[in-house]
Amino acid sequence: VTAYQNKKVLVLGLAKSGVHAALLLHKLGALVTVNDKKPLSENVEAQQLVEEGIRVIAGSHPLALLDEDFSLMVKNPGIPYSNPMVQRAQELKLPIITEPELAYEVLEGEMVAVTGSNGKTTTTTLISLMLNESQPTPRAFVAGNIGVPATEVAQKIEPGQTMVTELSSFQLLGTTELDPHIAVLTNIYEAHLDYHGNRHNYVEAKMNIVKNQTPEDYFVVNWDNEEWRGLSQRTRGQIVPFSRQNLSQEGSYLQDGWLYFRGEKICTAKTIKIPGQHNVENALAAIAVAKLKGVSNQAIINVLSTFAGVRHRIQFVEEWENRRFYNDSKATNIEATTVALQSFEQPLDLIAGGLDRGFVFDELVPLLKKHVRTMVVYGETADLMRDAGEKAGLEKIVKVDDLVVATREAINLSKPDEVILLSPAAASWDQFHTFEERGDLFIKTVEQLTNQVEEPE
Ligand code: ADP
Repeated sequence: VTAYQNKKVLVLGLAKSGVHAALLLHKLGALVTVNDKKPLSENVEAQQLVEEGIRVIAGSHPLALLDEDFSLMVKNPGIPYSNPMVQRAQELKLPIITEPELAYEVLEGEMVAVTGSNGKTTTTTLISLMLNESQPTPRAFVAGNIGVPATEVAQKIEPGQTMVTELSSFQLLGTTELDPHIAVLTNIYEAHLDYHGNRHNYVEAKMNIVKNQTPEDYFVVNWDNEEWRGLSQRTRGQIVPFSRQNLSQEGSYLQDGWLYFRGEKICTAKTIKIPGQHNVENALAAIAVAKLKGVSNQAIINVLSTFAGVRHRIQFVEEWENRRFYNDSKATNIEATTVALQSFEQPLDLIAGGLDRGFVFDELVPLLKKHVRTMVVYGETADLMRDAGEKAGLEKIVKVDDLVVATREAINLSKPDEVILLSPAAASWDQFHTFEERGDLFIKTVEQLTNQVEEPE
């Protein structure tokens, strides 16, 4: 890629992806300036770039910086277009891209890209596992919104290998040439309207995933909704539907409890270890990609029957005395907990609570009533959750101070054949730094409490 040689590029906003974008551009011979709001003294990422000889302006976003005649801006997806720097850049007609676009331009392998409102990480992970299953050496690597900068991964990928890239609508908004050989749309719900302004813009951003597709490319798309079916027409590639409701048999679908691809039986839906109807959809999307890439049915079955879920997202933890434990610490809002509750047929012993953002939990009442037998609440939202549980008429509700005690209490309350589920319906920040930290503590506590240590002889 020689296009960046001596080109003046402004990288706006660092974080991990900004660092890798800046390093890559620097390597490609661009004249890189990085601008990040965080002051240099507390900005480890920026310091690292200074050491590499990259020009860094940290501490503020000075508008005057844009008087220098840059020819490109690489914008962190988290920075909204309403940011004054971005607005000024737009006035100056400066092309604005995001880091995955850059990754695409240097990628020598193939790109599979997954977008959607929900299920991106799960589907991306399943696809990559399927592509690598029974392979002597890995041929697929995950990247993007999943937590590994696409530019970091793209540089290591060789021809014949695949970058399975999770792309958010924010990232897709800044793509120009990006053209995945296989694009996947899991679904579209209302999301991030604050950033995109309205639903139309949100949908249009997502559809950037297919805007450059050609007849050799594929668009794997959820067929179970009229709007999404309609969006399939945006590609010039080949449309491959997936349908849990068996509305099409042109791609992957569920029929009478079996998963199929174009008339070929693959396995029963029960093979899928991760619970819930939404995961049947994610599995169908992944199957479609895997089959297009020539993965064997056995490899697909191996993955579906063993993959225990993305960490902290309805993640299976362990089975103990006929009880199953699931960690859904990622459920930081009511919608996510709604999905979790609907994912189980067994009665639930629910652990919930966390940061109070003023949510009203009434919406959860019918689901609590239907799926939950006992509930342990803690954190700022403890009383609000207890009110919801009381409205639902739960058998038992216990309020405690923290997650460790809550876990112990939930185990005490549980019965065989039940599921003990952490799905907080609230952010973790009242007691933790991150939802990962909360989920890890839950897993550790479960392991400690259920681990019958044998007496040394
Ligand atoms: P994303 O990466 O898009 O945030 P994840 O795979 O990480 O999606 O799943 C996050 C949460 O979204 C899950 O815990 C579940 O509650 C919900 N979810 C996952 N897949 C789907 C789906 N296909 N449809 C609806 N909700 C889903």
